[in-house]
Amino acid sequence: MEKSRITVLGSTGSIGANTLDVVDRHPDRFEVFALTASTSVDTILAQCARYRPPFAVMASEPHGILLAQSCKSEGLATTVLWGSAALEMVAAHELVQIVMAAIVGAAGLAPCLAAAKAGKRLLLANKEALVVGGQLFMDAVAAGGATLLPIDSEHSAIFQSLPDDPREWSSCIDKIILTASGGPFRKREPSTLFSVTPEEACAHPNWAMGRKISVDSATMMNKALEVIEARFLFGVAPNQIEVVIHPQSVIHSMVQYVDNSIVAQLGTPDMRGPIAYGMSWPKRVKSGAAAIDFSKLTALTFESIDAQDHMHRFPGIGLAWHALAAAPGTTTVLNAANEIAVAAFLDRQIRYDQIHHVNVETMGLVQPQAPDSLAALLELDLRSRLAARRVVSEIDR
Ligand code: NAD
Ligand code: MG
Repeated sequence: MEKSRITVLGSTGSIGANTLDVVDRHPDRFEVFALTASTSVDTILAQCARYRPPFAVMASEPHGILLAQSCKSEGLATTVLWGSAALEMVAAHELVQIVMAAIVGAAGLAPCLAAAKAGKRLLLANKEALVVGGQLFMDAVAAGGATLLPIDSEHSAIFQSLPDDPREWSSCIDKIILTASGGPFRKREPSTLFSVTPEEACAHPNWAMGRKISVDSATMMNKALEVIEARFLFGVAPNQIEVVIHPQSVIHSMVQYVDNSIVAQLGTPDMRGPIAYGMSWPKRVKSGAAAIDFSKLTALTFESIDAQDHMHRFPGIGLAWHALAAAPGTTTVLNAANEIAVAAFLDRQIRYDQIHHVNVETMGLVQPQAPDSLAALLELDLRSRLAARRVVSEIDR
């Protein structure tokens, strides 16, 4: 069997490390072609020594030069490049079959589009890229003949619960039910959320993840982004998407069919499950994820998100439907605002409960024109970031 060559965009992150763990389990099936990172030179250097990829790409020149020197002094033959053109090159290279999109944020959009246009198997963990790109992203996938497979655990679950042929989806889906753990503050009194620290927000009860998605999981903006992601991935209307709190994170999501029958996918909370599925689809291979132990699993429980939660505990969740109903491009504005707000919170410039304020204010400030190209999307993203930074700078802590 010929090995599949994989480019791992964002290899030093949580999803990147889990992807390499799955590669380790199947050295006969997968081979690393390129690794990429933003600033973690030591981590990517160790990965280069282990996987000996032809290419490694850093986001910026200073880190690129540092990695190039380190690779040279360790006698590694890896070619080190940097910058956005190099990221796109390793995502679209003719020798690559699989691209794992595991960069965090809108920074991953351009290499995702490059992989889509080049017809790759595109494994999408980087949900922000789809929230920013919207229909343009889906059109690029179709035009390039790419295979887009979701890695987000909820969307992987839905994909696994749907018929193989996407042409059947629209006539048989009644609704998509996204499960949400509820994050670390599910039971916390909403009036005390103003004092939440970055450390508390990043301590997720069920999943170990990067800092940005951990904060998003606490605010439920992660679920808002996932509602938008589901709308584009599965072509359903926004009112066909429902969110239900399921604190155990065992049911990863569900499809309710027109006959009111529900198909769900279950597993332990371990991202190697969806990653291995995406890498081996339509086959299945061992992932490293543990099996569910039914002797320890005493209950699967569900809670709906009520109007009070919408207003107080998780105000961000409603922004998904709001953005989807507004002018095309509004999801781009929301994503940019949230990236700036979360970074400002992690930097202790704003309070936890002010993240939502930044998102709402920025959506009010930026009027998008329907973006029709990558350049237009990036311009809208930049304009939204500038507006969000202005909102942050005017906030009283
Ligand atoms: P992380 O912060 O652990 O890793 C992010 C990676 O992206 C790192 O390799 C970093 O070097 C790289 N990166 C960051 N900024 C960059 C930039 N400007 N240019 C180029 N590279 C950059 O994040 P993560 O938890 O691995 O999440 C990655 C993506 O996967 C996110 O979009 C997240 O929402 C999604 N996701 C993660 C999980 C999870 O369990 N961690 C689950 C579902 C979806
Ligand atoms: Mg998810």
